[in-house]
Amino acid sequence: MNNEQPKIPQATAKRLPLYYRFLKNLHASGKQRVSSAELSEAVKVDSATIRRDFSYFGALGKKGYGYNVNYLLSFFRKTLDQDEITEVALFGVGNLGTAFLNYNFSKNNNTKIVIAFDVDEEKIGKEVGGVPVYHLDEMETRLHEGIPVAILTVPAHVAQWITDRLVQKGIKGILNFTPARLNVPKHIRVHHIDLAVELQSLVYFLKNYPAE
Ligand code: ATP
Repeated sequence: MNNEQPKIPQATAKRLPLYYRFLKNLHASGKQRVSSAELSEAVKVDSATIRRDFSYFGALGKKGYGYNVNYLLSFFRKTLDQDEITEVALFGVGNLGTAFLNYNFSKNNNTKIVIAFDVDEEKIGKEVGGVPVYHLDEMETRLHEGIPVAILTVPAHVAQWITDRLVQKGIKGILNFTPARLNVPKHIRVHHIDLAVELQSLVYFLKNYPAE
C-alpha cells in the first residue's frame, strides 16, 4: 500500500473503484475532462458527494471545465495500487467458487486469485480457470504473507473454522460469501456478501418501494 496518499474517509474509499472504472472508459474513448454532473449520472452518486470525494484527492473541478480525466486516473491508479496486483486465495471450489476462478478479476481489477483450496478429492490436484486447487490440509504450508486476502465460498458450517486458521496464518482481509457471521480479531477486515439476502432485499424493495 502507498503510505504517502492522504487519508480518505472510508465511504469515499469505497466509491473509488466505481469512479476508477468509469474514468478508464472515458479515457479510452479519448475524453479529457468530465463534469461532476456527467460522473454523477454515470455512477449514480449525487454530484455534491462526488465534489466532496474529489476534494480529498486534491482534484478541484473548475466551473465550466470539470475535472481533468488524466489527473484523476493517475491519482486512482496510485491510490488503488493498480500497478501492484494483490494476490487472493479462494476456499471452496463449488459452483460459486468455480465461477470466481473462471472469471478473470485481474482484467478490470488489481486482484488475482492465485490459489484455491477444497476437500473434495475430485477437485484437488486440478486447475480451474488456470488456478491450482490444493487440499485444505495444505493451507498452512501453501499460504504465505504475499496472499493477504481470502474469498470464502465454502459451506457455512465450516466458514468459522477456516477463518480461525486464516487468522492464525496472518490473513488481512476476508470476502465472505457464506451466510455465516464470522468472528475475527479487530485488525482483520471481513466484508460479507450474502447473495441470497441481497436478492431478497432487492425483491422486497421492488415490492414495497417501487422506483418512481
Ligand atoms: P456453492 O455454494 O459454491 O454453489 P456447491 O453447492 O457446489 O457450492 P457447497 O456444498 O456449498 O457446494 O460447497 C462448496 C465447495 O466447498 C465444494 O467444492 C466443497 O467440496 C467445498 N468444501 C466443503 N467443505 C470444505 C472445507 N472444509 N474446506 C474447503 N472446502 C470445502
